[in-house]
Amino acid sequence: MRINIAIDGPSASGKSTVSREICKRLNYIHLDTGAMYRCAALHAKNTHTNINDEKQLLNMLETLEIDLTEDEKVILNGEDVTDEIRTDEISMASSDISTKKVVREKLVEMQQKMAENKGFVMDGRDIGTVVLPDAEVKIYLTASASARAMRRFLENQKRGIESNLITLKNEIVDRDYQDMHRKHSPLKQAEDAVLIDSSDMTITEVVDEVMRIISEKI
Ligand code: C5P
Repeated sequence: MRINIAIDGPSASGKSTVSREICKRLNYIHLDTGAMYRCAALHAKNTHTNINDEKQLLNMLETLEIDLTEDEKVILNGEDVTDEIRTDEISMASSDISTKKVVREKLVEMQQKMAENKGFVMDGRDIGTVVLPDAEVKIYLTASASARAMRRFLENQKRGIESNLITLKNEIVDRDYQDMHRKHSPLKQAEDAVLIDSSDMTITEVVDEVMRIISEKI
């Protein structure tokens, strides 16, 4: 039996890494919805859209085409933007644009169409609450801000990107606050989601725990 799996949680909680690993084990498809909000932010920047002007936002959305490929590439209007959407500037801009109702409506519609069939692991902020309220498995994955900042710091180090631990932690706390306190679809744990706090867990331990929860449903 194929099911849909929703993984929500704050930034840098390991949602994407865990989702990818689950997909490998189950031969499912991963949909990173955060990448879509990042594309919307980048497209708004490229088109000089004032995100506080609804007419301009609607125009921008009309020309927004996003393709998430099976090998995890992010294509925006035919161009590979996989790395370009990961900058600090686009992280915060994606959180800003995701507060806009018209943007959420358009992206949620796209996401629901993409996952019409079963066999998806979708990660984001509102998957269990809004996008796939009927998902058979819902996980709310979190970790302390310090643990998340440290993971980002080590990840950056590995990639040769210089970063400051305190700045990283501040950015994480700011983005969490904005995502949890916005008017439309704020980040919150769905009532039927299972909470996993990964502060003191390895990725493998988290994946094993999610697999255990999934196996109870399949
Ligand atoms: O997951 P990621 O950090 O890439 O997401 C970037 C931003 O997109 C988040 O900070 C959040 O504001 C927004 N987002 C959202 N709903 C989702 C996924 C992401 O509002 N389902």
